[in-house]
Amino acid sequence: MQQAATAAPIASRVSLIPVLSDNYVFVLHGDQPGPAVVVDPAVAEPVITWLEQRQLELTAILHTHHHHDHIGGTPQLLQHWPQAAVIASSADLARIPLQTQGVQGGDRFELLGRTVQVIDVPGHTAHHIAFYLAPAGGDSGHLFCGDTLFAGGCGRLFEGTPEQMHRSLQQLAALPGPTQVWCAHEYTAGNLRWAAAEAPTDRAISERLTTTLALREQEQPTLPSTIALERATNLFVRAESPEVLRHLRGHKDLWKG
Ligand SMILES: [Zn+2]
Repeated sequence: MQQAATAAPIASRVSLIPVLSDNYVFVLHGDQPGPAVVVDPAVAEPVITWLEQRQLELTAILHTHHHHDHIGGTPQLLQHWPQAAVIASSADLARIPLQTQGVQGGDRFELLGRTVQVIDVPGHTAHHIAFYLAPAGGDSGHLFCGDTLFAGGCGRLFEGTPEQMHRSLQQLAALPGPTQVWCAHEYTAGNLRWAAAEAPTDRAISERLTTTLALREQEQPTLPSTIALERATNLFVRAESPEVLRHLRGHKDLWKG
């Protein structure tokens, strides 16, 4: 069925709000004033302040997984914007309360004039999902991948297997190269220091480490990354098999760098 044309604005900007020690809360929005969507709100206060300063109205909250530093701010955000939708994995309803819309891998839904595609990416947790927005409004597309894919790294395997994480990362790596990758933590410097120790002759990794350290020196975020950059410099994405990923994950878990 052909959808009727609407005046819905296309949200093409993603802003990040640094919270806690190394979390990011992401905001998808368009012009201000206008509607906004928040991804993985660890806390509420800085998010409320940030949105109000910009006259942005919260219309939806997306959750990638159930860990508290990804859902902790939701109850208070809903007190402030009771009409906001809460979208998360329907398989994790018991651990992600307040859902108004449960989703699973393969689902698509519309948000702020964009189509959002849900991708199942288990490994870090059993029901972890990612949200992919294809290019629109002149941007390169966006991926919100929670704690599955990090810049230069991947999440710890708390509930999943190396096989699951390998498959999850390969699915994300198959997205278009220019896709902007919004990982939920600022772990890039540590990940690349480890990767440079693991693969000391790898030029692409050492160059990215240099760029990353310069950004952190100026207290700048290292995100977004891109799928192309992760394909080139992320050892977990480059792992050719679950066995290689298992080996790398074991090294990283023990690394004290
Ligand atoms: Zn987590």
